[in-house]
Parts: sequence; C-alpha cells; structure tokens
Amino acid sequence: MSGFRKFQNQAKGQEVAENERNPLHCYANGCPMFGSTSLGGGRFMCMAHAWATSDDWGRITHQLNESQWLIDLIADRNRCKSDTEWVSLATKFWTDYDDELIPTESERTRKGNCMTRMHYELLHRIGVKQKRMQPIEPKQIKARSVAGFARA
Ligand SMILES: [Zn+2]
Repeated sequence: MSGFRKFQNQAKGQEVAENERNPLHCYANGCPMFGSTSLGGGRFMCMAHAWATSDDWGRITHQLNESQWLIDLIADRNRCKSDTEWVSLATKFWTDYDDELIPTESERTRKGNCMTRMHYELLHRIGVKQKRMQPIEPKQIKARSVAGFARA
C-alpha cells in the first residue's frame, strides 16, 4: 500500500496494519507529530526532533506523547471553521487551565501569532525550549525627530 493511500485510509478511519509507518509522520520512532522539517535532505521530522540529537529522541517522543492534549488543542484549528473560532476555543481552554496562555487582544486579532505561541509552548513543555514565549505584540513605533523633519 502506498504511503499516500495508507494516509487516505487512516483519514477515512479504515484500519491500517500496525507495522506500517505513516510516511507523513516524523521519522523519530513513536513520535505523534507529522514531519515538517528536513535538514540537509534527510527524512522529515517534527519541529521537536529535527534539531535534537538522536540520543534525546526517546525523551522527546515520550514528552510529546504526554502532551497529546496540547497537540490536540493545536490540531483543533483544522476542525474549527475559522481562526476566530479556534482562538475562542483556545481562550476558553487556557482560561480554565493557565492564565499566562490566554490569547492577548493582539493575538485575537493576529491569530497566527497565537498559533505560533501554542507551538512554542509545546516545545517549552517538552523541554526543547527553556523559556516560555511571551505574546507577540505589535511593535510600538515612537515618533522621533529625523534630520530635516523636526517635530513641531
Ligand atoms: Zn517528532
């Protein structure tokens, strides 16, 4: 069975032999993520495994599987009708769970920034990123004098 056909069957809920590996998944054994990054033309890996050393892959895979709930929250974007619906879902979820991750007013407008922060949060929770990402806020441009254009 071709990789694409197997993927189609999985998407339709049809049974796929367990020993068959979904070619769209990250190359790291047991990783629940899709491969999205190929370094130097190698196999596709997820954002968590791609830059890690192979001796850390098992730990990362374990942590990703423990964080399936966050992966599901991120993937819920594909089940929502719009970015707005997904950000509302994320807002409700984080309101009950972790105030620091409630999307800011800016993230509710720029929903891609909210998605970026959720991906980063996943990397933080599995130990790939040491610090939690702060919300991406629009840059404040301060008025200043420029030669020849002095402020009144
Ligand atoms: Zn992976």
